[in-house]
Amino acid sequence: MSSYEPPVGHILQSSFGHGVLRELSAFESKISPVNLMLPLFVTNSSPDALEPINALPGVSRYGVNNVLPFLSQQVEKGLRSIIIFGVDVKNTKDKVGSSADNDMGPTIEAIKIIKAKYPQLWVAADVCICPFSDTGHCAIFEDGHMDNQKSIDRLAEIASNYALAGADCVAPSDMMDGRIGAIKSKLRELKLGSRVAVMSYSAKFCSGSCPYYGPFREAAGSAPKFGDRRNYQLPPGASNLAMRCNSRDVGEGADILMVKPAGAYLDIIYRTKQEHPNFPVAAYQVSGEYALLFHGAKAGAIDLKRGVLESLTACRRAGAELILSYFTPQVLQWLDDDEKAIRAAQAKETMKNTAYHHILIKKTSGWIDSKRYGRMPAWEGRAVALHISDHLPKYR
Ligand SMILES: [Zn+2]
Repeated sequence: MSSYEPPVGHILQSSFGHGVLRELSAFESKISPVNLMLPLFVTNSSPDALEPINALPGVSRYGVNNVLPFLSQQVEKGLRSIIIFGVDVKNTKDKVGSSADNDMGPTIEAIKIIKAKYPQLWVAADVCICPFSDTGHCAIFEDGHMDNQKSIDRLAEIASNYALAGADCVAPSDMMDGRIGAIKSKLRELKLGSRVAVMSYSAKFCSGSCPYYGPFREAAGSAPKFGDRRNYQLPPGASNLAMRCNSRDVGEGADILMVKPAGAYLDIIYRTKQEHPNFPVAAYQVSGEYALLFHGAKAGAIDLKRGVLESLTACRRAGAELILSYFTPQVLQWLDDDEKAIRAAQAKETMKNTAYHHILIKKTSGWIDSKRYGRMPAWEGRAVALHISDHLPKYR
């Protein structure tokens, strides 16, 4: 037998023995609907389009007629925010991504109908050139080279058109130098500077040869036609460089900082929050992360609900307040179910106690005036409180 007796201060299991204590202990990492942002793909292939995305099982592209019915189910479950990705399959892709902010294009149309129906929903629009450009890159090319100035001018134009359409937030995902400043100054010029937030994909990693981004590119039709994005997205090992990107975007007026991908970059989320504690931090659980969890669960390797909730809790624990996740509809459903289960259990307990109370009253031998509690039922000559009902089963 060990002779070591832990000091009383080392007895910690009392700190999380009850469910309420476990919840309080993890409160900083709690997942609520306000922490979840739904990425929404809107296509103009047809107004009635409902196109399942093979690489993202359970996720679809929606035509404008199907956006609201889908969203109404999510809002009912508590959805608070979305980010729109327009998928234009009708207009020709050109050098500057002209169809990104076409008045009749999917992004602007979606912003308008969604804000008209759900003014309380926080609607962000992803801002980039790649889904709409003939190069599939996030920049404008001149003579085979990225033209940073032309790119950020164009990005600011796209962002301001989304803002004019009613977006509450614009989220540049391109990683060009200076685009936050360009967008902020354009918004101010249009007197939208105080209304529209800028969520910067500030620490966006190239993710190797992009295994984590693969399924998204099928969803949004945004794969580059040549080369890759390692000249403007960050090398996966470059944490200090990521901090420079965050600081630069803070300096240019970003309202929210984002780390992308999420699960393999928890240290970056943590550092971002530590270095910029006054800014909300977003984490993008990207398409590859979704696919890994989905297929892992399908293969029986993990339980989907536990796996997904733990992955999101990890992002919250690392410091992210907002998580962009394709699991959002599923998680909202789970949170709703869990809340209902707690309520049902409470209701059952209340009913049980009420029933015992009636038994108690029946068995009382009168009333006693308690100095402390006032008039109380007497039982075997003593005043009793309601909680004694817990000890009553034998009298049922
Ligand atoms: Zn892009």
